[in-house]
Amino acid sequence: MDKVTGYTPNGSLGIYIHIPYCRNKCAYCDFNSRATDPVPEGPYTECLLRELSLLADRESPKERFSGLETVYFGGGTPSLFSPESIVRILDNVFAVIHPNDGIEITIEANPDTVDGKRLKGYRDAGINRLSLGVQSFNDLDLKRLGRTHSARKAECVIQEARDAGFTNLSIDLIFAIPGQTPSDLERSILKALTVRPEHISLYGLTIEHGTPLHTALRNGKLDLTPEEVEVEMYFKAKELLKQAGYEHYEISSFALEGFHSRHNSRYWEGGSYIGLGAGAHSFLRYPGWGRRWWNEQDPERYMELTAAGVAATEGGETLGRDEAMTERLMLGLRRLCGISEEEFRKDFGLSPRSVLEWKRLRELGIVQSANGRITLTEKGIIFSNEIF
Ligand code: SF4
Repeated sequence: MDKVTGYTPNGSLGIYIHIPYCRNKCAYCDFNSRATDPVPEGPYTECLLRELSLLADRESPKERFSGLETVYFGGGTPSLFSPESIVRILDNVFAVIHPNDGIEITIEANPDTVDGKRLKGYRDAGINRLSLGVQSFNDLDLKRLGRTHSARKAECVIQEARDAGFTNLSIDLIFAIPGQTPSDLERSILKALTVRPEHISLYGLTIEHGTPLHTALRNGKLDLTPEEVEVEMYFKAKELLKQAGYEHYEISSFALEGFHSRHNSRYWEGGSYIGLGAGAHSFLRYPGWGRRWWNEQDPERYMELTAAGVAATEGGETLGRDEAMTERLMLGLRRLCGISEEEFRKDFGLSPRSVLEWKRLRELGIVQSANGRITLTEKGIIFSNEIF
């Protein structure tokens, strides 16, 4: 195997913690989440701690990593878990690997599950970034998506988050919701801009197999947004956000200066992360070209195995150079700054052009190069769903 300089065991680490429970299942959702009531918060938290200690024995993260840079509670709906459970999890994580100064700690929250007190509890627990699943500021859109909160509730929660001391707030918005017009989207974006979150994630709705929206589509009860309208929406949203001072830094991500998601950037940059919880994925950038593994998806099975002291790993693989190169390209191109040709060559000993179908993609107007970097064109961004 060729020796590479970029893949060393001493880099920094991120930790992703998956909470697979929700109050209800949204009509478009194919994430690893279960609508459960009551939520097994205590037993699941115990299992996360057990998994962490099994992992610490196996991976010795203290010796292998220079420090923990990001923690991300994702789901599901992590805000169904109390601040007390979040504190327990964080204390145990920090006992295994020391947090770097300025660590970014994010929790995803559904507006329906939080109030001022809970948000203050998260802030006191050390969470310094809140990612709020707003999706739209239009009640009709929310109903079509099967969301259980109203636009008004989302606005209140944003205010409560500010009052609780969150100065790094991200909101998710969805466009191309069936029935949504470009002016509906514009109104939602303008409303978002009045509360000025530091970060906005903007996703085009995709209708996934097995979801209620997919069934409705199959039964002829759903009209998809025509592609040209979706493209119009995307450009309008992009323009509004740009005018308001947001940097478009990844296909779906916009941020005020200094507020890129550091955790998600780790994924796009091919950095190391460990995932805890049902279905969570881990990737370590060593040895060789990297190694990944993933957990049992089913929360019951995950808990059963972990409670018995067995790693709930469902599968894993060691990457070969070709896979590592392809991944670096696919993830790196999601960022608007793209891929540095020099860094790529340093890590893999090859030009990214020789890996990418450079000639064909350039002729198709999908990729471009300037100042030693390869990036997607506007057309490439629009077709990114098909590319990635
Ligand atoms: S809240 Fe999020 S994870 Fe839960 S069902 Fe809705 S979209 Fe899926």
